[in-house]
Amino acid sequence: MSNLLHRSLKEPLPLIEHGMGVRLYDSNGKEYIDGSSGAFVVSLGHSNAEVLKSYNELIQKITYVNGTQFTNENAEDLAKKLCEKSKKIGLNRCGFISSGSEAVEAALKLARQIHIERGEKSRKIFISRTPSYHGNTLFALSASGRPGYKKNFSDYLVHFESLTTPYEYVALNNITSNSKTYLAEPYLDELSKKIASIGKDNIAGLILEPISGSSVAGALPPSGYLKGIEKICKANGILTIADEVLVGMGRTGTYYASEHDSFNPDFLTLGKGLNGGLTALSAVLTREEHFETIRNGSKKLDHAQTFMHCPGSVAAGIAVFDYFEKHLVLKNVIQIGDYLNQKLRSAFENHDHVGFISNIGLLFGIEIVENKSNKSPFPIERKITEKLTHAALESGLTLWPNTGHRENGDGDIILLGPPLVLNRSEADEIVTRLLLAFDSVF
Ligand code: PMP
Repeated sequence: MSNLLHRSLKEPLPLIEHGMGVRLYDSNGKEYIDGSSGAFVVSLGHSNAEVLKSYNELIQKITYVNGTQFTNENAEDLAKKLCEKSKKIGLNRCGFISSGSEAVEAALKLARQIHIERGEKSRKIFISRTPSYHGNTLFALSASGRPGYKKNFSDYLVHFESLTTPYEYVALNNITSNSKTYLAEPYLDELSKKIASIGKDNIAGLILEPISGSSVAGALPPSGYLKGIEKICKANGILTIADEVLVGMGRTGTYYASEHDSFNPDFLTLGKGLNGGLTALSAVLTREEHFETIRNGSKKLDHAQTFMHCPGSVAAGIAVFDYFEKHLVLKNVIQIGDYLNQKLRSAFENHDHVGFISNIGLLFGIEIVENKSNKSPFPIERKITEKLTHAALESGLTLWPNTGHRENGDGDIILLGPPLVLNRSEADEIVTRLLLAFDSVF
């Protein structure tokens, strides 16, 4: 009899006894490759001895102080490191919270605070995109373009205006558009029209993932899209929030996914891989000018939580960051990412039910379709993603499932996002195990 409130109640969950590198071991002695780094968290692998050692050293002196009364060396140090790496996108203030949802909440609330401090009180409405995921607390869930997740809580959520998330596979040659080129213009037009209809003075901000994470895995926006969004938002006084909880901190081959299209957001969130799975740690970064607005105004953040800037949690981020630098992890992400991309394409591109493979760095999405010629998805009742994820687990591979990104709640994508320290033979094993899973389902 367990007293734990398990998250999935369909069948008993395997008990993981330990992890090492990219592998997990359960109590029956079964071994798995962690193809999704848990929930894209374990960026440097399980039980990474060097990371654990430096984390251990960093928590010896102090593990908690009240962030309103004191500052602390760990938080100052990690803020400096992360801001230095964000020079290209111009962020120079960084705060720490615990989860990705909280980082998103903090960014949204800070954006609203900035408008109020500037005397632009009418700027209340936020815009997000569909499909998208920004978290599960009420403001972050409100921002998420995920009708299924919101269904039971609609009475408590605030309204977000919605834009279409660019996704090349669906955008090209779909039934409603005959375009053969993936262009930014239709998406930018949609934003301009939205602003005109709501009235720019009523809009506080726009939140988006610069590269889509779980919703349309690793899907890149069309060239010029992010710069275009930035330009339109700036011209209309709308603050931009880059949610990099999943795609930040090296997953795409750069510290910040916003770097890929030289996007300069007003706020940026990090989580997941930032803590490598050691403690709950997320971050919100912003520009000096916004910090100055608050310093010259109310002089206090309107968002406060008990574990903000907590030195014990931040220690995990320092240990992870220092390992990234010392072991050139970003270089590995690009090299092994390319290698695994080629292997996956040669193994799956010609499969009857693989419609599209998206990739950047060590983030992959494989869209499964019923009919490749017209890109039509399987009806969701066929539970294709669930079956594939289950079969992969049987063959010793964890995957991240995503469903419902197509019309009517259909759509199956399986995601891979292995630890960023993956090597070639482990990449080969992932492909072999995934092939076994496909064979068993199809
Ligand atoms: N934003 C994005 C882009 C995410 O992918 C997630 C988690 N999947 C969150 C926010 C929420 O993070 P958390 O689950 O840590 O609250």
